[in-house]
Amino acid sequence: MKKHLLLLFALIQILSFATLAQKTIAVKCGKLLNVRTGEVLSNQVIIITNNTIESIIPASSFKQKTDTLINLSNYFVLPGLIDCHTHVLLQADITAEDYNVQLLKQSIPLRTIRAVSSCYKALQNGFTTIRDLGTEGAGFADVDLQKAIEEGYISGPRMFVSTLAINSTGHYPIKASEYSWELNLPKGLQEITGADEARKAVRQQIEHGADWIKIYADRNYYKLDDGTYRSLPNFTTDEINAIGDETIKSRKKLAAHAMTRDGIIAAINAGATSIEHGSGMDEECVQLMVNKKIYWCPTIFVNEYVAEGRAKAGSNINMQFKESMPAIFKRAINAGIKVAYGTDIGGYDWNLPEAKDFEYMVNWGMTTTQAIQTATITAAELLGKTGLIGEIKTGALADLIAVNGDPTKDIQLLQQIKWVMKNGIIYKSDK
Ligand SMILES: [Zn+2]
Repeated sequence: MKKHLLLLFALIQILSFATLAQKTIAVKCGKLLNVRTGEVLSNQVIIITNNTIESIIPASSFKQKTDTLINLSNYFVLPGLIDCHTHVLLQADITAEDYNVQLLKQSIPLRTIRAVSSCYKALQNGFTTIRDLGTEGAGFADVDLQKAIEEGYISGPRMFVSTLAINSTGHYPIKASEYSWELNLPKGLQEITGADEARKAVRQQIEHGADWIKIYADRNYYKLDDGTYRSLPNFTTDEINAIGDETIKSRKKLAAHAMTRDGIIAAINAGATSIEHGSGMDEECVQLMVNKKIYWCPTIFVNEYVAEGRAKAGSNINMQFKESMPAIFKRAINAGIKVAYGTDIGGYDWNLPEAKDFEYMVNWGMTTTQAIQTATITAAELLGKTGLIGEIKTGALADLIAVNGDPTKDIQLLQQIKWVMKNGIIYKSDK
């Protein structure tokens, strides 16, 4: 009997502690977007308990007492955005020189300190989740940043990381031929030769905390007279398939940088979940991606941004991609390809807008709601987090942003985020 009483007493204590620890927040929203249906709701209240959305109710029936009341009655509220292609450890690399300076003159601690600022900017830009696709020579520092954010040492988005990234030997900067051959130069990723080294690289990266495996599937892009793009594949079939096999067996996913059919088809055959850039994809690639439900991160603005600088430095290919991208994009979305928002920011300056790609998507045929879906429900699906992020619904994490005006009418408003909440904590309030 005494034992039972003690148990009951302990249970009451646990319950009362749990009640005390529960923190409730009500967010009054002037407008709220249901990203799945595109419906814009007026005067809603989002009830949050700790870091999770409890319910969404009309303001007229809101009577509950909460610990905190946030008034966004004059604002338009959306779920926190998701950028599926970032490089927090890179601070723009328009030319090879920009890239080499970062790898040769800046230590990894210095680059990581700079990345703390990139993470802060991403969150201020309204991106509450990112998939960071390669540290570009900064080792496993992305895993450290991910931990520092999770543990609250620094503020930044929820991160999915891919650590070193993989390419075949001799096909990635820093190019040895640009320096004295006597130097032992750092590389922007992990190089492999042969299927065994491919498997080893995947295993090592996962062991160190990679959530995704990132590969570079092609290089040396060129345009044929008939307007089609080609490139050189980076891996042998054995190598790329070994990477895919090892990744999938470890229940991880593969993201492939691939510009043309030479890289795209090899990556798809190896089991890639997403194709990054795909700036020169042809009809067959589009069909294959639609049929196999493979995601496309088109990284539009970065190409527009680097095109001129690279043309001046002697490479015209980004200019050519820039010209053909509108038609490629339209054809792909008409065919029903799954577009996941990915910017490649870090490849361009972190002080430039991260929400710029939305504008191009809308100019090239998407509705504003479809464009927003690329950075919310579709991105969440790519990350395997449907229902948890990218949506304002019961059970989702409290990742919310607010803008002043209606982004379904003016998509550029996503470049002026006024208020950011991640995991139930406010990180920006410029109201
Ligand atoms: Zn990239």
